[in-house]
Amino acid sequence: MSDTATFHEAFHTAFHTTKPHMLKGSREYARQTLMGGLSGFESPIGLDRHDRIAALKTGDIGFVHSWDINTSVDGPGTRMTVFMSGCPLRCQFCQNPDTWKMRDGQPVYLDAMINKVARYADLFKATGGGITFSGGESMMQPAFVSRVFRAAKEMGVHTCLDTAGFLNKNYTDEMIDDIDLCLLDVKAGDEERYKVLTGGTLAPTIKFGQRLAARGKKIWVRFVLIPGLTDPEDNIENIANIVETFGDAVEHIDVLPFHQLGRPKWHELRIPYLLENQKGPSAALKDRVVKQFEAHGFTVY
Ligand code: SF4
Repeated sequence: MSDTATFHEAFHTAFHTTKPHMLKGSREYARQTLMGGLSGFESPIGLDRHDRIAALKTGDIGFVHSWDINTSVDGPGTRMTVFMSGCPLRCQFCQNPDTWKMRDGQPVYLDAMINKVARYADLFKATGGGITFSGGESMMQPAFVSRVFRAAKEMGVHTCLDTAGFLNKNYTDEMIDDIDLCLLDVKAGDEERYKVLTGGTLAPTIKFGQRLAARGKKIWVRFVLIPGLTDPEDNIENIANIVETFGDAVEHIDVLPFHQLGRPKWHELRIPYLLENQKGPSAALKDRVVKQFEAHGFTVY
């Protein structure tokens, strides 16, 4: 069964909250066991599969690939970026195929994550930074992410969601209200190209961008420029037309040149990599695309 199927199965099981004795038992277990690649988090690795799915549904735990502290990469100021595990898309140009399967992530308690945010809250406020959820696909675990965001907002911490928007339906308007900024990947300008590049559909991304805009949120659009795949003028034009429907919510568009830094991960995971010999864009190509977006009145980086 795919992770996506597992995820949807989780959402269709009866409502079931993690019981205190389960958490207590698993905490004991966690204390005796190494935490894997996520230092600083207590991890409920003692929960069985059923309990993990239930806790995932309520957001009592989240499956996390890794986290780091960075500056001005995934939003403004100094940020804690948490890379969630699991992604329903299969982008040809993915740099992080090791985040695709939710089960490969480390389960982390909600309160451990919130405590981590609290520890850095003063730093975030002093630098205009905050917490960013990325992935993988950050919208694949909506309960966990939105509960951390709710806690962050109560602490006065800026929140940022880095997403492809494909799982638009996972988010209620109330969840959107706790997002200050969205880094929204618009990977292609039409359904056909989107399908070939990602395996998914574009319409939910457009809808999510429009919902963010309607609720007064800020958007940084992200677009990966790949010669021969995403650079045709009509593709850029279509993307620009889509982004225009987000109105004043859009602060800028990031044109991200394709690179091969993710190639070793595809090899390690033994996943066939279609872009083995793909080159990044020339400076001239990037300049052409930037100017095309600018002609629509956007600020472009
Ligand atoms: S949405 Fe992101 S994590 Fe998922 S396949 Fe595409 S690039 Fe990779």
